[in-house]
Amino acid sequence: MLKKLELTFHNQGLRSYIELDLCTECPRQDDKGCCGYYSPVFYPCDFAYLLQYKPEVLDYIFSLDNLTILDASVTVNSRPEGQSYRCSFHSNTGGCLLPQALRESVCRHFVCPGVAWEKEDKLAHWKDFFTALADYEIELNNRIAGILKEKGLSLREEKRREEFLAELLILFEQETAITAPFLAECPPWEKHTLFRELQYGTDWPL
Ligand code: SF4
Ligand code: SF4
Repeated sequence: MLKKLELTFHNQGLRSYIELDLCTECPRQDDKGCCGYYSPVFYPCDFAYLLQYKPEVLDYIFSLDNLTILDASVTVNSRPEGQSYRCSFHSNTGGCLLPQALRESVCRHFVCPGVAWEKEDKLAHWKDFFTALADYEIELNNRIAGILKEKGLSLREEKRREEFLAELLILFEQETAITAPFLAECPPWEKHTLFRELQYGTDWPL
């Protein structure tokens, strides 16, 4: 039987995201869905947003002991649990504890391949939007990371982390002073309905 799904695309610039109503009754039926196979990685654009709007979440991240800290990124490594993993931000009753805008980009953009929304002609504008956004964000993250490195700043050096983050925020504001033109090509939000045949448990692809 075909299941009716609702996808809502949100254009919020660098914090854009895709919402899928199916997640609340994920076909994986393991209370973790795709989050059971992913460890979130935070990059300069995420740090800039958290610094501006929710610095306590950044403090929380750096207080964790399951991190992989590189020069300009932090991975919050999920812990093994059962047949998969448990993300530090995941609750088995309510899903992700982070509001969308505070999540990193994979967590905001990912929709499982069983939904395959990218194949819908009517959604081509959103496919172009999220492809352009991913490229833009990678390029921006790399540029900011490169400048910070040239200045001798690295997240690995705990004692200079505040200096790193303060400089990062200045760079982020400079680099995003002009809004990228593609961001104006989609509305603030748009809701679409799709119909899909569901499979359950591990038959539902991730
Ligand atoms: S696997 Fe699909 S339906 Fe399940 S939580 Fe992830 S995106 Fe949502
Ligand atoms: S941060 Fe949230 S959305 Fe991302 S893997 Fe963890 S629980 Fe899932």
